[in-house]
Amino acid sequence: MREKCGIFAAKTENAPKKAYYALLALQHRGQESAGISVWRNKIKTIKGLGLVSEVFKGNKLRQLKGSIVIGHVRYSTSGSLNEAQPLEAFCCGKHIAVVHNGTLTNFLPLRRHYERLGVKFKHSVDSELLGISFLWHLRETGDEFEAMGEVFGEVKGAYSLAFLFDGKILVARDPVGFRPLSYGSGDGYYFASEDSALRMFNLETKDVRPGEVFLLSEDGIESRIIETGEHHGCVFEYIYFARPDSTIDGVNVYTARVRMGEELAKESPADGDVVIAVPDSGRAAALGFSRISGIPYSEGLIKNRYIGRTFITPGQFYRELKVKLKLSPVRKVIEGKSVVLVDDSIVRGTTMKRIVSMLRRAGAREVHVRIASPPIRYPCYMGVDIPTRHELIAAFGSVEKVRESIGADSLAYLSVDGLKKAVGRRDLCLACLTGEYPEWAFRF
Ligand code: SF4
Repeated sequence: MREKCGIFAAKTENAPKKAYYALLALQHRGQESAGISVWRNKIKTIKGLGLVSEVFKGNKLRQLKGSIVIGHVRYSTSGSLNEAQPLEAFCCGKHIAVVHNGTLTNFLPLRRHYERLGVKFKHSVDSELLGISFLWHLRETGDEFEAMGEVFGEVKGAYSLAFLFDGKILVARDPVGFRPLSYGSGDGYYFASEDSALRMFNLETKDVRPGEVFLLSEDGIESRIIETGEHHGCVFEYIYFARPDSTIDGVNVYTARVRMGEELAKESPADGDVVIAVPDSGRAAALGFSRISGIPYSEGLIKNRYIGRTFITPGQFYRELKVKLKLSPVRKVIEGKSVVLVDDSIVRGTTMKRIVSMLRRAGAREVHVRIASPPIRYPCYMGVDIPTRHELIAAFGSVEKVRESIGADSLAYLSVDGLKKAVGRRDLCLACLTGEYPEWAFRF
């Protein structure tokens, strides 16, 4: 099971409407399904396939009333699409709704363990297991924080989550802190995968710390750090996933991306007339590259904003079609020039190959590709859709082989040290780049 998602939770007035707006702001984290659950004496959920605006069109949102809410946008590459979240689970005589961003590494053995204890699972995805494990330990301990401590001890992998049950919300970030999670307070209590989704509500925001648990109830809010592991925040949030206006674990994403471009220009200068970006996620790094190299930056590729992100759409056929629909070169900027093309990453290489050939057809004299992250060589088991090693263009070949395959005149990647320097954090997960997986996620 692999998901990359956005979650939201709040206790506030007009909670369903606020959840709707926050999910719109998190739409880049998942475009295949969306859902909201509210508490009003019981759990009521509306969810469906498609964008947030499609799922909640018409008067759907008006059917949800209450001040306690959780919400989700989802991207999945496996499992059934009707496994949209919030997922509802039943165990130990209780009903719970779950939203989850991440992937559990010991899902199958743990699910078998609970099945042997008589638990009946209703869904095929791993997120249900989080709710089951929590309810099981809540019955044993009678205390939400103790129960969540047991979940931390039992469930390994990546999870930022929110549970809705008994008129309460429990929010937690796994002890390693793989996936981001922000907390906002003002006219209520709010949580979202990225703080940029909370800013519109004029809140004071901060990061939820790894291993931190919040409980929202009638009595207000309580929080505890239950367990801390070695912190390994996903570096790809900075490279590609998160919105540039988000700040994750104290580091602004836009600033980190500009610095990636600056480090790249220092490490691998290029002889070019113009720096252009693959929009939108390569833009900040291209600005950084231009700033250090002194080569002017121009908009050389124009993006059709009404096509979704290619990386997060399942299926090779649709990915290819989307690239053609999505980008168009500005001939005036490119013709007769030696172009330095900056992007955030190369995954399969198919998109980059098409872009290089598109630039040549538009008259580029030379195309020098500069990538603001190291080569992706290993899969991710922590909730990000990175293909199998065989599909990763850099997994087995040299940089020269990748250059040949994409048809560029030169190719260079940012080094791992350059990336760490750009982000300004050493406590990062870099496993898909280095093959060194954080131990906690696999300790079971
Ligand atoms: S393996 Fe890569 S994508 Fe997965 S959590 Fe680590 S850094 Fe992020």
